[in-house]
Amino acid sequence: MKTLGLFVFIDALGWEVLRRHPEFLSDIAPDRRPLETILGYSSACDPSIISGLTPSGHKLWSSYYFVPGRRSPFDWVRWLGFLPERLTERARVRHYLSKLVKKVCGITGYFQLYNVPFRLLPIFHYAEWKRIWVPGGLPEGTSIFDMLQAAGKSWYVHDSNKGDEGKLADLEASLGEGKISLAYISLGKLDALMHAEGTQTPKVGDLLKWYDGRIRHLVELAKKNYGDVRLYVFTDHGMHDIRQGWDLQKEIETLGLKFGTDYAAFYDSTMGRFWCLNAEACRKLEVFLGNHPAGRILPDDELDELGVYFPDAQYGDLIFLMNPGLQIAPSFMGRKAIKGMHGFHPSDPDSKAMICSNRPLPQGLQKIQQIFGLMCESTGIEPPAGRAVP
Ligand SMILES: [Zn+2]
Repeated sequence: MKTLGLFVFIDALGWEVLRRHPEFLSDIAPDRRPLETILGYSSACDPSIISGLTPSGHKLWSSYYFVPGRRSPFDWVRWLGFLPERLTERARVRHYLSKLVKKVCGITGYFQLYNVPFRLLPIFHYAEWKRIWVPGGLPEGTSIFDMLQAAGKSWYVHDSNKGDEGKLADLEASLGEGKISLAYISLGKLDALMHAEGTQTPKVGDLLKWYDGRIRHLVELAKKNYGDVRLYVFTDHGMHDIRQGWDLQKEIETLGLKFGTDYAAFYDSTMGRFWCLNAEACRKLEVFLGNHPAGRILPDDELDELGVYFPDAQYGDLIFLMNPGLQIAPSFMGRKAIKGMHGFHPSDPDSKAMICSNRPLPQGLQKIQQIFGLMCESTGIEPPAGRAVP
């Protein structure tokens, strides 16, 4: 009997979102539960799911990180800083410039310039330089794709350049051939919808209904060629409705420190990451951020427990995390606060991820990185030592 592991990832379909739509796949994937997410964004969660490692293990956490001296691969981008801001702050212009920078630098991973100021880009490096969805894609450690390749097995994985419809059509074609032992598809429409309109829009229910129909169709197609179809529908994080934007950058700029000389900072949507370039700057930042009403500095032992501690401070000496519902705006990710955002503390209920399946879920399955173990199990691969498995 041929077995297929059918792994359907729906971005931002967190436990709280699913709880409001209990009818979603309820008959064909009845076993369901919340999963603990990983602090950060998809750039941290996706590589963890496909490797069973935390960001401390595979080294991918946030997108950009500070590189002292002139080691940045974006040094040449300096000239873009001379373009008028009126032009470069337009989303469409930045979209095309992102494509240009990606091509010139030879980046194969997911890449966006977001709202990073061009004058600052030449002091940063980008973590997800390589496409993670292929063998050899992780900076450290191996992913399920390395293992499938070593075992001589075939698989399907989505083409990140395509939208949900294109990815689903590709997968349907692949299932029709019946040659793969694992399918991994990442669907992004729900995440985009809730970023733009929040979690309460009725469009969420409509979209889940559409996903429900498409996933049922995938299972029916798969059953024509496989005796055992193991369906897992899951996500990496939930979504929070944003109450308020918070101009953390402006506050930091009042401390009398010089960016690039005293400190460097990268403002993600929910985290400010700071590199201290001298002791005085470090003290000032610690005092200011240590008594802040909108968030807190995460201590090293807590970062370590969350799997995102980097002894070399690759992603920052000080990690300041916003309280749930408060978004840094403007940030280096976007100019304005939006309706929905994720990337708050994993302990917040809206951060919870989820998984549902047509098979009984193992008791020990509690964290998103353990999904890796399910992929190993359904393809008969022995997970390497030290990986998260249920
Ligand atoms: Zn998102």
